[in-house]
Amino acid sequence: MKVAKFSALFLLIVLLSCVQEPGNRLQELDNRLREEEVVLSRALILRSWALETATKIKFDKVPSAKLERLDYGRGQQYAGQYRSETEKIIFSVSIWYDLNVRLAKSLRLATPQEVAADEDFQILADHELGHALADQVSRRSDHGPWFLPEKMLELKQTEALGLHVVAEGVGIWFAQALHPSRERYSAQNFPSNPEESRFYTFEDIVHYGGYWLVRDILNKYGERGLVWLICHPLTLNGDNMRLAAVTYHERALTELAQFQRPAH
Ligand SMILES: [Zn+2]
Repeated sequence: MKVAKFSALFLLIVLLSCVQEPGNRLQELDNRLREEEVVLSRALILRSWALETATKIKFDKVPSAKLERLDYGRGQQYAGQYRSETEKIIFSVSIWYDLNVRLAKSLRLATPQEVAADEDFQILADHELGHALADQVSRRSDHGPWFLPEKMLELKQTEALGLHVVAEGVGIWFAQALHPSRERYSAQNFPSNPEESRFYTFEDIVHYGGYWLVRDILNKYGERGLVWLICHPLTLNGDNMRLAAVTYHERALTELAQFQRPAH
């Protein structure tokens, strides 16, 4: 009887440890990730100061960082993503491994200054902070959150592409504020007819075309330019995207110049 009781107790302990162990490990991993997220969030604060100084556009608040697996299938992986629905910056767990290697120590043991000094992290963080800042500018100029996923689903394809182009252009402009690229950007990054569009990738149009589209507007008008971009949705017609982009670019510069307040 005693043996039976002992066996039953032993079995119960084994069963409980089997049930709890994976849970404990996940909890442990979760706690470790939280520590890494605190370091990343503090590094974001340091980058936000650098960006504010370079662009003269102020944050209302600095988004906190979250680590997630950002795998979008089809071999596409994102290193980072800003989500306006939660106002957080999501970093792919892959950057955790990369930073561990580059810093030669576990990310949770690194100082925010060490992380913020890493050049690859700077470019990625500045890009995502740019998306966050555009969302905050949109909210504080009474245009509500920018780039919500449910809003994207309501858009026509030409409107969704236009929004992607403007939004990514803005992200790249912030990423380049302190790391200017030597690459060439021009209206040629948009196809001018459906035949030509077969030779353009979505990434080319969004990244190169997007940056060209917003660069002069943001360089010249800063936050005012950003508000103009937010409240003037771009529609990219498949027949002649280049003409649509050039027209939008000219219209922005003309209107912003007309309504420019005299400098004091
Ligand atoms: Zn982006």
